[in-house]
Amino acid sequence: MAVHAHPDDESSKGAATLARYAAEGAEVLVVTCTGGERGDVLNPALDHPRVRADLPAIRRREMAAAAEVLGVRQRFLGFTDSGLPGEGEPLPPDCFARVPVDRAAAELRAVMEEFMPHVVITYDPSGGYPHPDHVQTHRVTLAAFEATEAGPWRPRKLYYQAAFAKRWFETLHEAMTDRGLESEMGAVLDEWPEWAPALEVTSRVECAGYFPIRDRAFRAHATQAADDNPFFAHPRDLEREVWPTEDYVLARSRVTVALPETDLFAGIA
Ligand SMILES: [Zn+2]
Repeated sequence: MAVHAHPDDESSKGAATLARYAAEGAEVLVVTCTGGERGDVLNPALDHPRVRADLPAIRRREMAAAAEVLGVRQRFLGFTDSGLPGEGEPLPPDCFARVPVDRAAAELRAVMEEFMPHVVITYDPSGGYPHPDHVQTHRVTLAAFEATEAGPWRPRKLYYQAAFAKRWFETLHEAMTDRGLESEMGAVLDEWPEWAPALEVTSRVECAGYFPIRDRAFRAHATQAADDNPFFAHPRDLEREVWPTEDYVLARSRVTVALPETDLFAGIA
């Protein structure tokens, strides 16, 4: 089970891992906490009033298409996107980030007890991205995981995504520069944000063979993924060569593990 904040997050963070495990026969469920209702249309080709007016329904269809590409099941938890408020701006009253953590966690726990995942993946405490819904997704998933302790189904392991780590940007930037390719990642690194934690990766999942599926899933979110999206800016053959894994931090385990590991299901009988 991978718990995400908005439709499209599952395709940009850890998607190749989900596609790989699904292809290998695992049942994979993406839980999307909000409908992405307050997102923008980031693809200029689709940015017209008709699309903006119908964005929630369009994003649901995009999410369904992406899940099909990845070969996973998906369900919405039903909360409302908080949007990305400007500095000092209040959060909208009805939004996910304002829902008490315990209330949202009870709903996610119910999904955990129904789907019975062995492994749960979510964001680290920073959210991995300073969006209130991402931070809330972390809090809610951690609380739900802890709450299963007393229940009928206890997921065995909880992981945090380590996508878009500084080392990943540095490695790709160096590889592109070495080959005389233009890299936009130098600018990203020059402005590396202070809030971004350096996570201690415990688990690297080899999944380069599934990067093309990841990319197709991300493109299925057409309102979010223009061709000039930075997500597509680095050559894929280079990525497969220098960084063929998606990486995770084991945050909680109810089984004995030997770290580092290369399989999120390691140690689970
Ligand atoms: Zn998001």
